[in-house]
Amino acid sequence: MDGRELQPDIMETNPDNCNFIQNNNNNNFNHGPEFKRKRKKKMFYKDKEKQKQSLVTSGTQFIRVFQKQLQNAKASKEETLHYMQRVLHSIFFFGHINHPQIKPEEFIPTDKLETYKRVFQNSFKEYNTHFPRQAPYSILLEYMTKVNNTGNPESLMEKLVELNKSLRTLNEEGEQVVANYFDFSASVVTQSYIKDPNNANILECFYGASLSCKGETQRKIMIYISALYVWDKAISYVVSCGDTGHGIVFPEDVHCKAYRFTTEINGYKEIPPCVKCHKMFITNFDPEYEVVKKLQPWRYGNCAETESLSKLLQGSLEVRNHLHTFGDNRQPMSREDIEKTFTAKHEGSMREKLANCLASRDFRVAPCDWKFFTPGT
Ligand SMILES: [Zn+2]
Repeated sequence: MDGRELQPDIMETNPDNCNFIQNNNNNNFNHGPEFKRKRKKKMFYKDKEKQKQSLVTSGTQFIRVFQKQLQNAKASKEETLHYMQRVLHSIFFFGHINHPQIKPEEFIPTDKLETYKRVFQNSFKEYNTHFPRQAPYSILLEYMTKVNNTGNPESLMEKLVELNKSLRTLNEEGEQVVANYFDFSASVVTQSYIKDPNNANILECFYGASLSCKGETQRKIMIYISALYVWDKAISYVVSCGDTGHGIVFPEDVHCKAYRFTTEINGYKEIPPCVKCHKMFITNFDPEYEVVKKLQPWRYGNCAETESLSKLLQGSLEVRNHLHTFGDNRQPMSREDIEKTFTAKHEGSMREKLANCLASRDFRVAPCDWKFFTPGT
């Protein structure tokens, strides 16, 4: 559901494992296997450096735009502190688990560094010891939803369009950044809502964003953290089942609508669910699912539907207690069965996978000491 996910992930490719030296027919001295191996290795590290720069630019831009948004909205001191600490911590966490690693200081302009360190000191202290609950764009979306809770989804989407344009603009002159700088910007936002069965009015609307972090390992880490500790357990269960799951059946009055931001129209376009969301969530999608032939390579749990439906379940006890799915033998599973099965079958292996991913990225806190970042006051 997000074009960026289709790009090969250069961070996951080890040049030493690449099968690029096996051209035995090439006898040209200058372009022999050893020459090609060295050239490929050099290009790989050059790409990693480029990727790092892109992430730094995107992070710096995100911080600048969010800070400005808080100022323009005349956010209170407490609100500014609460949201900025979370956004900074989340960006610093992703900088820390990036290869090559990025220090928090690299995201902040030099002339503002001392102030940031003083005002948001917890974010600078705990980025490599505590988890973020959300990726940066989801925190921004939570703030925007809170302050624009007018009951009019269109007005919120208009405000998000303006923010998205700013995230893609580097300076006051309005210069656009190139596509791969959008590392912390989510291109898909989903609304999940409950309709009044009597008059079809929207009773409550919950928003979610697609994962706004780049890199296969980073996404795995965020999906594991979310499934274990953040999402509603029915969502965690169905994401863990992946291809073998039978989908959660939501009550009839639940609806789901996804929008992708596109620079072609500088706005949002309604999109149908991907094949994975269609399989996981049995609900009313608008637009309806369309059969697609092309491969959708992103992970279960990557899409914006996951976050918004999870929020809907956490916000509505009525829906939460009236969903069901089917087990391996197609026997119906209640809410209680779902939670028990997730704990018994999936939780342990997921914790193990999370620990391995974190250790591979120099986040060396033992599972018994895992904690979440909590913004100070
Ligand atoms: Zn999807």
